[in-house]
Amino acid sequence: DPRIIDGKAIANALLADLAREVAALIETGQPVPGLAVVLVGDDPASQVYVRSKARQTVAVGMRSFEHRLPATVTEDALLTVIDRLNADPAVDGILVQLPLPRPLDAARILDRIDPAKDVDGFHVVNAGRLSAGLDAPVPCTPLGCLLLLRQAVGALSGLHAVIVGRSNIVGKPLAQVLLRENCTVTIAHSRTRDLAALCRQADILVAAVGQAGLIRGDWVKPGATVIDVGINRIPTADGRTRLVGDVAFDEALAVADRITPVPGGVGPMTIACLLRNTLAAAAARRGAAHGL
Ligand code: NAD
Repeated sequence: DPRIIDGKAIANALLADLAREVAALIETGQPVPGLAVVLVGDDPASQVYVRSKARQTVAVGMRSFEHRLPATVTEDALLTVIDRLNADPAVDGILVQLPLPRPLDAARILDRIDPAKDVDGFHVVNAGRLSAGLDAPVPCTPLGCLLLLRQAVGALSGLHAVIVGRSNIVGKPLAQVLLRENCTVTIAHSRTRDLAALCRQADILVAAVGQAGLIRGDWVKPGATVIDVGINRIPTADGRTRLVGDVAFDEALAVADRITPVPGGVGPMTIACLLRNTLAAAAARRGAAHGL
């Protein structure tokens, strides 16, 4: 179905481009780009993400460094690890896997990362630079949404984007990114009144909430493009679980021009964009150009 945006295929194409760019950089005699991932505690979902990130980092020809710390690690010990990675010339990008176990303060930890190595784009300086319209790494999930939209829609200028969700990780940075593309941007959240009527005005409707099936088919404007960021695990009849998004997919598919599936939409783009940010950080640190 051509209305279903194939995030997996678009991500694979990006990964192939990245592998070529990494090889070209290394061919000029530059050191191999490296990404360090810090995982604190033993959250099962985080372990899966970290493993997958490490595998794909190596697959595009970069070095992967993994740092696993117990959930009981002190803030000082964690900050020391980050200081070491900041100083390590083999490390171009640093990612601290969220969520961090209590009582660690994510903002304090993230702001210790050298902004030049902040490949998640969560450092407050980079968030500020993005809002100020300055050069900054774009957080991976919003960047993935942007690349999907450019591919599926083309020109975004003047379109009304309604983003449901206002997190620092997805909703807020995506609003900045789409403003940069000259969209008219509305951010909705849990206190928004008459969310359905607002969503019906969207040319681009993005759901980043974390509630299965929140967005119904009759909330979608005919011809709209729907980007479903949500990842929700729901039980099935046979006692197992499956992943669904925040959008009632079949209902929305009947109305929308284009829609991302879950899984296979935004998810694969997120990791590819992490590696894109890592290549960009590596190239910038080497004073080299890259073609992506
Ligand atoms: P979050 O919990 O930080 O934010 C959720 C947002 O949804 C909040 O701003 C809240 O105001 C809003 N919200 C909650 N209930 C609402 C309601 N009934 N109506 C309207 N808005 C409501 O979540 P997050 O970190 O931004 O993640 C959102 C979802 O996206 C989650 O399902 C998460 O798993 C998923 N996610 C996916 C990827 C990916 O790579 N595909 C990456 C990050 C997050």
